[in-house]
Amino acid sequence: LVEVEHLAKSFGDHVVLEDVSFTVDSGTVTCVIGPSGSGKTTLLRSLNALEIPDRGVVRIGGTVVDFGGINPGPGGRLPKAQRAELMGLRRHSGMVFQAHHLFPHKTALQNVIEGPVVVQGESVADATARAREILDQVGLSAHADKYPFQLSGGQQQRVGIARALALRPDLVLFDEPTSALDPELVGDVLGVMKDLAAQGWTMVVVTHELRFAQQVADQVLFIDGGLVVEQGPPQDVIANPQHPRTKTFLTRLL
Ligand code: ATP
Repeated sequence: LVEVEHLAKSFGDHVVLEDVSFTVDSGTVTCVIGPSGSGKTTLLRSLNALEIPDRGVVRIGGTVVDFGGINPGPGGRLPKAQRAELMGLRRHSGMVFQAHHLFPHKTALQNVIEGPVVVQGESVADATARAREILDQVGLSAHADKYPFQLSGGQQQRVGIARALALRPDLVLFDEPTSALDPELVGDVLGVMKDLAAQGWTMVVVTHELRFAQQVADQVLFIDGGLVVEQGPPQDVIANPQHPRTKTFLTRLL
């Protein structure tokens, strides 16, 4: 479903991604692990063109974007055709952020239907029916009409997940979805993510939750120094790492 080839991104002189390539099969879970500042978030944001890499190709479904040909002009403005390319890529994925970014003045349900209605032009009635199903899936049917401030951090994050799913993406991107949560709320959110994986959603998850990665990931990418240092199933990369940098990182984390 996803092919990433030779992705590179620098901020000024700081090379964050040097040369990153990997593939993600449909219906699988990829966990991205690595030290703080190793470029995990930058990589994830590149998959839906929230970040514009300097070079490299991202292919999702039938959409291919060669970032070598995407050049923001002075002031960061992109020509219209290039903006359209990025929007084409963005349509394939839903993103779940570290903090949930919900609209505070909208209920859980209204937050979930916003994308389908405003971006995708779905009718409010259809979007509402589907949003109720999705909220049920993430265990929030009883909270559909509550506002974010009436929900716990874990519940808010589950609304964030529901909102990403409501766009019917081919791919769901999670950027450390539990890192801003109190420890006792982490399990609920990881539980929902496990359910989604079991239902066959294709997921790319930046996470420090090694146990989650071990239980759920089909593939783990260990990123360090702008490169994929080691990749493979969790029983290799996490349980039996080969590269000294992976070993050091895992020892520090355990
Ligand atoms: P963490 O685990 O701490 O979230 P990460 O692996 O996700 O880290 P990134 O957030 O991708 O790392 O950041 C990688 C590096 O790029 C960091 O040094 C960060 O300061 C830098 N960086 C990220 N975004 C920008 C930006 N917009 N401008 C300048 N530097 C940036």
